[in-house]
Amino acid sequence: MGIKEMLGLSDEELVKPLPEPTPWSRPFWEGTKAHKLLLRKCTDCGNIDHPPYLFCTKCSSEQHEWIEAAGTGTLYAYAINSFAVPFPFWDDMPYVVAMIDLPEGVRMISNIVQCDHDTLENGMALEVVFEDVTDEITLPKFRPVAP
Ligand SMILES: [Zn+2]
Repeated sequence: MGIKEMLGLSDEELVKPLPEPTPWSRPFWEGTKAHKLLLRKCTDCGNIDHPPYLFCTKCSSEQHEWIEAAGTGTLYAYAINSFAVPFPFWDDMPYVVAMIDLPEGVRMISNIVQCDHDTLENGMALEVVFEDVTDEITLPKFRPVAP
């Protein structure tokens, strides 16, 4: 039995929050929609900011380009959520929230999916997968690279 039946929740109480693209993050979300992982790179100093911001957090320049990330990453740290999460995520438990280091030099927060949780290990190699949640929003998630 799911959480909805257990607690008599309405459908509305089980709606997961979704990203709300801003003018400066919209290209990132347009990218994930096309199953591409895009990063905002400053064309003045080369710094990459993630999450994308209005201006470069290193040199304050607004000049930038969007580059496609390799789509790989390294597991920096993770937590397996198995208790007391918000109701919309209840039926997903246990699920993994992680910090992933990308070779481009930024750290991303996402879920690790398609894996046996017992095999997770900091430093392991990951690759991006795209989860089409709605017509508008696709979430980038990560899974272990097949050995
Ligand atoms: Zn810069």
